[in-house]
Amino acid sequence: MTPAAPGLDDHRPAAAVERLHAFEDELRAECARLGRPRADVTLIVVTKYQPLELIRALRAAGQVDFGENIYQQLRTKVADPELAGARWHYIGQLQRNKARHVGQISDLVHSVDRPEVVERLADPGREQPLGCFVEINLADAPQRGGVEPDGLLPLARQIAAAPGLDLRGVMGVAPLDVPAGDAFARFAEHSARLRTEFPTATAISAGMSADWRDALRHGATHLRIGTTITGKRPSTA
Ligand SMILES: *Cc1c(COP(=O)(O)O)cnc(C)c1O
Repeated sequence: MTPAAPGLDDHRPAAAVERLHAFEDELRAECARLGRPRADVTLIVVTKYQPLELIRALRAAGQVDFGENIYQQLRTKVADPELAGARWHYIGQLQRNKARHVGQISDLVHSVDRPEVVERLADPGREQPLGCFVEINLADAPQRGGVEPDGLLPLARQIAAAPGLDLRGVMGVAPLDVPAGDAFARFAEHSARLRTEFPTATAISAGMSADWRDALRHGATHLRIGTTITGKRPSTA
């Protein structure tokens, strides 16, 4: 048994490191239970609004993948020498006037959801291709982020044809009004549909603090975990 991790109101960097280790233990156990290799799952720690000291402590503890959703915060963190070697995942809404800048400093972008964004992310000059996920709207009603399921393949084709972009898979956020398991089951079908045309686009970015076990059960390859590891986010008001 892992000793209980510090509570989510404990904002010390050392507490976040303890919660990271506790989460890793749970993730390893859950993978074993599902018969999935731990190496098939990328743990992204979502550090939006978190101070540099906390992120540095997680990096020093060996964490590589971090998620951010605001360009200005991402820029500060990417430039921090103590965070060298980190891999940056942009998971936020892409505003048309920021998309190009986001693409220039991210390693992967999870929230590609419309043609004008693909045009702005495309860059023939990139040394390493930018990994792209198509964000799908999993709610029944249109919402702020994500392409409607009908738009998945056309957008995927545009990404696959764009210079400097590497189509990795799909990304989704489970809506609050349906059980997460049902949403992720449908999401897995969208991923299968994508793979019939793009067999290498196998990634499924799904699962947050509240629903990662459901996501993992339905094939998630990239978990985006914030609160459970970082603790509660500082007030954003
Ligand atoms: C904030 C955020 C997360 C992490 O949420 P937690 O509930 O804190 O784990 C994951 N995905 C996206 C898109 C987010 O904006």
